[in-house]
Amino acid sequence: MSAQVMEQATTGPLVRARGVRKSYGGTEVLKGIDLDVHPGDVTCILGPSGSGKSTFLRCINHLESIDGGWIEANGELVGYRRKDARIHELRPREAARQREDIGMVFQRFNLFPHLTVLQNVCHAPVLVRKESRAAARAHARELLERVGLGDKEDRYPAQLSGGQQQRVAIARALAMRPPLMLFDEPTSALDPELVGEVLDAMKSLARDGMTMIVVTHEMGFAREVATSVVFMDDGTVVETGSAAQVIGAPQHERTRAFLSKVL
Ligand code: ADP
Ligand code: MG
Repeated sequence: MSAQVMEQATTGPLVRARGVRKSYGGTEVLKGIDLDVHPGDVTCILGPSGSGKSTFLRCINHLESIDGGWIEANGELVGYRRKDARIHELRPREAARQREDIGMVFQRFNLFPHLTVLQNVCHAPVLVRKESRAAARAHARELLERVGLGDKEDRYPAQLSGGQQQRVAIARALAMRPPLMLFDEPTSALDPELVGEVLDAMKSLARDGMTMIVVTHEMGFAREVATSVVFMDDGTVVETGSAAQVIGAPQHERTRAFLSKVL
């Protein structure tokens, strides 16, 4: 973590989004999103399909550019830099460097099929961060232990269950030592009996103080670990609060209608 990030981590939000807008063609799918995420927060984003949750996460790590507003992550403006009192879009290499500090776990695990579990986890630290193989391997083993896969390092992804593959994907993201982790419905592609082991790995990460933004339909997870819950609908934040507030006592009809379908 850079000194600048450390400073930010102890003084203010790790993520600030203000008035974030995004359109595809003529259709606006994010209509002015505001969000603050502080160090150690676990922010769960709920909302119906098509409400803009994935798009918003992708904007946070600049996999999508935004059309209005701004986002700061880890103390830096996402996708842009201020220079000579002007705002310049980052070049692809600079954006890639910025993205290294944001771990992302998707619904689909996207592991490298031709690499072993250990090689999958070591890949980016060695290639991108130029860590020594020995150091990367030691860290990877620690992370695999942590997600309960210490005995699977020589397996290939195809030899693992979906839940195990998703836990490898989590370890792989953690290998870059990101101060912030984004999860986009990490359990929704899994058979029901495999969901628990992935949620358990995420809960342990949360307990260790990792800052996380989690798009999920797992209300039990949100109730147990979310420090704040955001309900999105139709490209807007409809309501924000503690899990007890948003899930337990929703103020808006749209939130109630959504919860009645998923609870
Ligand atoms: P959610 O994750 O909440 O289900 P998304 O962020 O995936 O919602 O999508 C929000 C809206 O944006 C949807 O109407 C979707 O069809 C549209 N959308 C998402 N990605 C694209 C894209 N690359 N091109 C065009 N439309 C898109
Ligand atoms: Mg989505």
